[in-house]
Amino acid sequence: MKCDPYLNVDPGTMSPIEHGEVFVTVDGGETDLDLGHYERFLNKNLTKGSSLTSGKVYQEIIEKERAGHFEGKTVQVIPHVTNLIKEKIYEVAKGYDLLIVEVGGSVGDIESLAYTESIRQIKFELKNNAAIIHVGYVPYIKVSKELKTKPMQRSISLLRSLGVAPDFLVTRSEIELSDREIEKIGMFANVQTDNIFQSVDASSIYSIPLVLKDQKFDDKVSELLNIGKKDSNHVELKKFNDNLSNLEKEVNIAIVGKYVDNMDSYISIIEALKHASINNKIKLNFKLINARKDYDVDELSKYDGILVPGGFGSSGVEGKLKAIKYARENNVPFLGICYGMQLVALEFANNVLNLDVKHGELEPKAKNKIIDIMSDMKDKVIGGTMRLGNYECSITEGTLAHSIYKELSILERHRHRYEFNNKYEEPLKNGGLIASGKHPETGLVEILENKNNDFFIAVQFHPELSSKITNPNKLFVGFIKASAK
Ligand code: GLN
Repeated sequence: MKCDPYLNVDPGTMSPIEHGEVFVTVDGGETDLDLGHYERFLNKNLTKGSSLTSGKVYQEIIEKERAGHFEGKTVQVIPHVTNLIKEKIYEVAKGYDLLIVEVGGSVGDIESLAYTESIRQIKFELKNNAAIIHVGYVPYIKVSKELKTKPMQRSISLLRSLGVAPDFLVTRSEIELSDREIEKIGMFANVQTDNIFQSVDASSIYSIPLVLKDQKFDDKVSELLNIGKKDSNHVELKKFNDNLSNLEKEVNIAIVGKYVDNMDSYISIIEALKHASINNKIKLNFKLINARKDYDVDELSKYDGILVPGGFGSSGVEGKLKAIKYARENNVPFLGICYGMQLVALEFANNVLNLDVKHGELEPKAKNKIIDIMSDMKDKVIGGTMRLGNYECSITEGTLAHSIYKELSILERHRHRYEFNNKYEEPLKNGGLIASGKHPETGLVEILENKNNDFFIAVQFHPELSSKITNPNKLFVGFIKASAK
């Protein structure tokens, strides 16, 4: 579970440039991108409840206050806000042996104080059924070649002054700390040195669980919680890490998107590309091409595959359409996601069929819209009202989509407000762009594929969100294999 101290109810309304990607859970929660990391590392799907924000907490508190729930009492951060935070945490833990709760931000942030206080109370209530793990940064000053333990000492003393005494420490650093430095931190923090673990920069993030396991982090935590040794050999993760040093082929992918200033904006897509390539012993090279810039289309000839991701608004649309046209005309393996699919329909209808059609997000008043706002989305407030989370997609037999998924019914996650206008299905089909996947109940188009090309597929859903490290999404595997070929 991730607790985010900001006041947005969820990150759905935040710009990906500001806050990175918005992750979507199977049950339609728009959450912090850390949930994506949790799902990928745990190989497990989480739900809405695993993402808590101060916005959510205060929204509920104020609604309850207006409904007279507090019966004349003064509503306060302690106990009302902290009680609600604890309630939410206990609720998510129900039915599980262990819940890991991460509090975002840094110790001492004004916004996170209510969470720190809730954590203090939970430790008081649960005693050794809860463990406090403090992750601290230990900067390395390159010019003088020294590690500075002071910031970590400061954050520990701040934490202790708030009544929270860590049971375990994890140091985040560029290089390894010496025994002397670990002892210094331990003494200061009142934590024995064998309860301090090091998370030193690694060549791959996927090795980190193994690095911590080597230091017996899992044993130590299990010991304190008295839950017995739950040994895991991480066979699959080890195999994945072994593959990393035994890559046989290379593939070059261009991602043509507009949120290029923050690498976290496309984190799930980048991770899904890695899962698909590394599991197939292929080295992934990728480049983010700024769709907002008038890039030279010939630049795309350097890549084996082109991906156009999701997005919102009009900026960058020209650059994306240019990439779609290039992939279509040059038979370059192509994967379009969400907005990427909508723009595939637009590009094909206008450039191949000369239909002169529009996208409703770009021209809401146009008559001939090939992509239009879903009827139940009109006039809704912005936050949390899109078509979100898992929806079924029925796949047509014998299509490219079928050969990729090898199933006739799949579930994938969504986050969109606009949809394909089925009036245009027939003309597109006659030109070779077929709707090979649809939502069974509404007929909403979920997959478009171009029969004239070897691998040209675009989807209304977000396949990147369900991809796991050792269980890559099939569509990404298909795309990577086609590109490598
Ligand atoms: N802006 C488009 C829509 O709302 C696409 C959304 C997306 O790419 N996630 O339908």
